[in-house]
Amino acid sequence: MATSQMKTVGAGELRSEHVGNTVTLAGWVGRRRDHGGVIFVDLRDSSGIVQVVLNPEDAPASEETLHGLRTEYCVQVVGTVRPRPEGTTNDDLPTGAVEVAAGSLGVLSPSNPLPFQLDDRVDVDETLRLQYRYLDMRRTRMSENLRARSKAISAMRRVMERDEFLEVETPTLIASTPEGARDMLVPSRLRPGNFYALPQSPQLFKQLLMIGGVERYYQVARCYRDEDFRADRQIEFTQLDFEGSFWGRDDVLDVLEEIVVEVVADLRGEKIELPLQRMTYAEAMGRYGTDKPDLRFAMEIIDLSGVFADTGFKAFSGAIESGGVVRAINGGKLGLSRSGLDGLVSRAQELGAQGLVWMVVEDDGSLRSPVAKFLSDAELESLKDTLSGEPGDTLLIAADGVGTVSSILGQLRIDIGQPEGSDELKFAFIVDFPVFEVSEDGSLSPAHHPFTDPGDIDTFVKSPETAVSNAYDLVLNGTELGSGSVRIHDPEVQAKVFEVMGITAEDAESRFGWFLEALRYGTPPHAGFAIGIDRMVSILQDEPNIREIIPFPKTQTGADPLTGSPSRVEDLQLMELGVDIHPEVRTAWAEQEADNDA
Ligand code: ASP
Repeated sequence: MATSQMKTVGAGELRSEHVGNTVTLAGWVGRRRDHGGVIFVDLRDSSGIVQVVLNPEDAPASEETLHGLRTEYCVQVVGTVRPRPEGTTNDDLPTGAVEVAAGSLGVLSPSNPLPFQLDDRVDVDETLRLQYRYLDMRRTRMSENLRARSKAISAMRRVMERDEFLEVETPTLIASTPEGARDMLVPSRLRPGNFYALPQSPQLFKQLLMIGGVERYYQVARCYRDEDFRADRQIEFTQLDFEGSFWGRDDVLDVLEEIVVEVVADLRGEKIELPLQRMTYAEAMGRYGTDKPDLRFAMEIIDLSGVFADTGFKAFSGAIESGGVVRAINGGKLGLSRSGLDGLVSRAQELGAQGLVWMVVEDDGSLRSPVAKFLSDAELESLKDTLSGEPGDTLLIAADGVGTVSSILGQLRIDIGQPEGSDELKFAFIVDFPVFEVSEDGSLSPAHHPFTDPGDIDTFVKSPETAVSNAYDLVLNGTELGSGSVRIHDPEVQAKVFEVMGITAEDAESRFGWFLEALRYGTPPHAGFAIGIDRMVSILQDEPNIREIIPFPKTQTGADPLTGSPSRVEDLQLMELGVDIHPEVRTAWAEQEADNDA
């Protein structure tokens, strides 16, 4: 660790080879134990922990100081490194063979009593942790996560530098761009009534950089999307954003592979084998019911429409006749009671299924199920064969439109099969995304942003709902880490895409006229990607949500308990901005205040 005027070595760096050295340490008082006048302190700094022995006989400090020493006091110790007495070494601690006999101790800064214990084994309410984030990050969990985040970013930069990418910053006060989420807006004081948007990503700026002749760009970019919070989503997050000119899809995937290899090696010391698996969107949806499959386990979705092509069982035949499918997963040896099985049916209904058929393979090979009597022996036999049903297996069958069946079986597969406590990493590229995702009600929404190459333009214009784009995702253990695409570099194609997406020519002109114009100045073919850094690090660190990886995150309701944002501002500020608060909001405020006073 870097030493300074105030310390000669990091507490966590001391080993047997330092025995006999006089050292100056500076850090915080962790655990403290009083042993009949001699005080043992775990002294902690960012390099780790070492045991310091404060024996009043060695006069390391005044009686008062020693006595008043409390946890999390910031102190400086000058002392001698010595071996720990026999039988008292601590193999769990890297410094556990030695201790520092203090010759002097000075309190640099005392600490208030703590709002919670900094012991990692103590569960602390998250809001309290966030309110005192600066204390929370003295705990091992957060300090390790911050370190991992820094290491990941540094590994990414290393790859970018090695591959000759240019780091370029792009503005965070911009005009709104359509990336599919709601914009965060910032009112302009100089042009009252006008707003900047915070970037959902640097998408259009990086494309301008390509037009500007920067052939390889990257940025560790902060992005903002006014979306509902989830475990893997915050309104403010960080991406590794990059783009290359004269690139096709595989140029992007090659760089991503380099990044994955470096980051995993640095964070986990593991070697990721290349190439990473590639799967088309259609295949992922068919086999796993999702575009972000968790490939750590099989339990694939199997089509049974052939098995039940001529069935007399209405629930199945009805689905097939109306263009739907019958599909199933073999959930394996679940050993569920009747009520457990019914619980799966309720779960499927909650997920939007009309129903779910379960079948259990008995020891004699027969199938036990409430609907077995409606199916022929041949159908049952063929069903069991197709799903490789062995005695004890639970088979789960859904019949409906293909989208519904995929999403229900895909989710049940996760509920049942997702391994807990597994430290396996399964990366995959999902390629050939459709231009649009079609919802059950038939409405179209862009699968990626509208600057994505929609494939052959004539096919796209003729049947946009089935067109396949040149977009791809990187997935890890069932989570999308990021996405990218080959971009449109032809202004006519871009205009067509806007049109098909329901953005009128006038609208496109007024919102992105500047971009359409830029495309007319010799735009090179280009492609790129953005990786969600918080997400990637959270999975590699085995954390359940990205708040554990973000130094100062917001709560689920978008609040920061530490600084109190978002907060109201003075009426004068609003006036300067030309912004009015709606009277209904003011009434709600008044009511809230009255409640608080009561
Ligand atoms: N701008 C895209 C996003 O943030 C990524 C990309 O297409 O490069 O998802």
